[in-house]
Amino acid sequence: MSKWPDELVFAPLGGVGEIGMNLGLYGLGPRNRRKWLAVDLGISFAPPEVPGIDLIMPDVAFLEREAEAGNLVGLVITHGHEDHVGALVDLWPRLRCTVYTTPFTHALAEARRLGEPGAPKIPFHIVPTGGRTSIGPFDVEFVPVAHSIPDSHALAIRTPLGMVVHTGDWKIDPTPVVGNVTDPVRFSALGDEGVRAVICDSTNAIRDGISPSEVDVQKVLTELIGAAPNRVAVTTFASNVARIRSIAEAAMKNGREVVLVGRAMERVIGVAREQHMLDGLPPFRSADAYGFLPRDKVVAILTGSQGEPRAALARIADDDHPEIALSPGDQVIFSSRTIPGNERPVNRIINALILQGVKVITDRDGLVHVSGHPRRGEMEQMYQWLRPQVAVPVHGEPLHLHEHAELARRMGVREVIRLVDGDVVRLISADPSLSAEVIEEIHAGKLYKDGQVLIAADDPAVAERRRLSFSGLVSVAIAMSSKGEVVGDPMIDLSGLPRLGLGGTPLDEVVEDAVLNCLDGLPKGRRRDPDAVAESVTRAVRGQINAAWGKKPLCHVLVITV
Ligand SMILES: [Zn+2]
Ligand SMILES: [Zn+2]
Repeated sequence: MSKWPDELVFAPLGGVGEIGMNLGLYGLGPRNRRKWLAVDLGISFAPPEVPGIDLIMPDVAFLEREAEAGNLVGLVITHGHEDHVGALVDLWPRLRCTVYTTPFTHALAEARRLGEPGAPKIPFHIVPTGGRTSIGPFDVEFVPVAHSIPDSHALAIRTPLGMVVHTGDWKIDPTPVVGNVTDPVRFSALGDEGVRAVICDSTNAIRDGISPSEVDVQKVLTELIGAAPNRVAVTTFASNVARIRSIAEAAMKNGREVVLVGRAMERVIGVAREQHMLDGLPPFRSADAYGFLPRDKVVAILTGSQGEPRAALARIADDDHPEIALSPGDQVIFSSRTIPGNERPVNRIINALILQGVKVITDRDGLVHVSGHPRRGEMEQMYQWLRPQVAVPVHGEPLHLHEHAELARRMGVREVIRLVDGDVVRLISADPSLSAEVIEEIHAGKLYKDGQVLIAADDPAVAERRRLSFSGLVSVAIAMSSKGEVVGDPMIDLSGLPRLGLGGTPLDEVVEDAVLNCLDGLPKGRRRDPDAVAESVTRAVRGQINAAWGKKPLCHVLVITV
């Protein structure tokens, strides 16, 4: 055996330790000559602590280098959710590899790409639902699973060393309304063939039991709409085609027409219609028809279930939508779950609707939503089907990963691997004496999308912006002669500070006094050095403002020599 035996490794660059920005790598070969297969390329949504940033993506510097060296054989997208495909348009130009995915996911990704001006043309290889293809040394089978978007797939990745299963996002639902079912026969057959390792979704590992089915939600929605005296608006995730179908069927059974509101939803529905996922339903009406339909003959399906300020629901709650308005006695159903971090904007909308006299129904009131991820009972089922030797929990925060690891141990999995983004775990080695374990670390990090630019998460711009939002900015411009004399009056501008400080002193006067006193007190030699002047004035201004206000703003001093 040579120094480096052939091995199959897994290395997540995103999605392990957080929910979002999924990117997993499989590496095959000896340690110094691996070929890499990437799985998914997703985004996260930025928290309010990073002001001005909307999206977060995995740092792909490692993969970029491997791609340049010709070692990246392809990228597989398991399904069309943003946390799995949302970074494709921004990061593909750094990787430039073929992207393998299935028809609906491809159509959705293309529709999204075409909506972005200047987006790169991406070479897709479309694999049929349930299909199988060779990608470099990897043989990848797309195994259909049920999830909250159609056309989701687990991956059975076969290599000369053995097979591993990457579940992607999945659940068990024998009646999903639209999309795949997770087929026990297929997964058991994989188990019979021999699965070395399972890399599996942990999102709902803290929840006992088995998820209800999409048809159960449809029944509840049908009852709610049937009992509603006036208008009903339902908000859900734009990509949840099965839910949109459930709502539309519930509306149809109650003799109501469906009005679709929100651009993201129109885009997904366009693709779903082309793929025959909405066959048998009457066409949906657009928002401009809403005003002409009787109050008891309409169901509006809206974007904005997460409180997004520019989406349809937020604008309707603020009575600021050009076409859609609600009246007292109408109903809004949140057929969704509030993603942690979005509680505040969602509650703001709920309160605004209540103030309008609108009745609000959420998943606290009844089964108006089911998750797309497996609860413990479903995860146990998966382990029974696949019977792996190794379990690698992914797609979760540390709590979810921990609960998943405990479950895998209870299910008798011998090697349960706990890892974080950047860990390289050996799954299979040609040397049978080597077990599964973390053997290396590679660089993993985050990129922020700031406007149209990608910056590193530790870029000083973000920290500076946070400071600005906390304590504002004082700008001072001073003109000085070459002899070190002040020319004219310094110019002062305050931004983000209160007008008056303690005792009612205007803060702009505090700044002015601080600047003039500081300049007066500077020794001549120091005055001739613009940097020294700027430094002294900055210190004086921040000190004096702190005394008058109790906070220190950022201070920019420009010294111009005239
Ligand atoms: Zn998903
Ligand atoms: Zn996901």
